[in-house]
Amino acid sequence: MFQAAPPTRFDLNFTLAGFPVRVHPLFWVIALLLGSGMDNLLMIPVWIVIVFVSILAHELGHALAFRRYGQDSHILLHFSGGLTIPESAPFGSGYANAGLTPNQHILVSLAGPFAGFLLAALTLAVGTALGGEIIVTTILGVIPFPLVLMPYGSGILTDIFITMLWVNVFWGVINLLPVYPLDGGQVSRYFFIQRNPYGGLRLSLWVSVMTGGLLAILGVTVLGSIYMAFLFALLAFQSFQMLQSLGRY
Ligand SMILES: [Zn+2]
Repeated sequence: MFQAAPPTRFDLNFTLAGFPVRVHPLFWVIALLLGSGMDNLLMIPVWIVIVFVSILAHELGHALAFRRYGQDSHILLHFSGGLTIPESAPFGSGYANAGLTPNQHILVSLAGPFAGFLLAALTLAVGTALGGEIIVTTILGVIPFPLVLMPYGSGILTDIFITMLWVNVFWGVINLLPVYPLDGGQVSRYFFIQRNPYGGLRLSLWVSVMTGGLLAILGVTVLGSIYMAFLFALLAFQSFQMLQSLGRY
């Protein structure tokens, strides 16, 4: 599911800040599917642009962090989101094989979600500069979440700002959960391996199984999102399979 997809003739190729970027056609299909429930049809193309810009910013965060440690990389946007692939690592293996220290791996992983938080902060700044008002609401009654309300008569602008904030903050937080192969899963892997070189990988996979399972249950019961429940159930199952392939020792 998170493997890199082979090139197609419908790929969009360009360079961003010196990093080669390839966009697989299925990226647009998935973005469209995720946005197809929108009430306002005008918001669907806007949604696709927001998803594109936000995932690109996230991957650029990883790529810049890699560059800081002397590691070249390229960016791929495909059906399961984005990937930043270091040049020296085998295709599809994430960044496990790059010659970085565990702490550098952790910083590279954190750089993605934090690039999104930066973009969210920028969105708030632009929103305020355009005369919008920042209000803080809560998700699930506990997690603070900022919104920009534009002056009366600019409903679509408010929608754009709220979607930008939602995508960058919510997806960033989800990505920080210690579930493989999300960024938080990478952080937890290198965190535990550093403390326990022999059992750390196994421990991080157990954390991934538990957190993924819990999120799958919360996805159905609290969040009411079948998509999230399915995604986390699948990730928990994949982690469980990885655990089993490690053997019993
Ligand atoms: Zn990431």
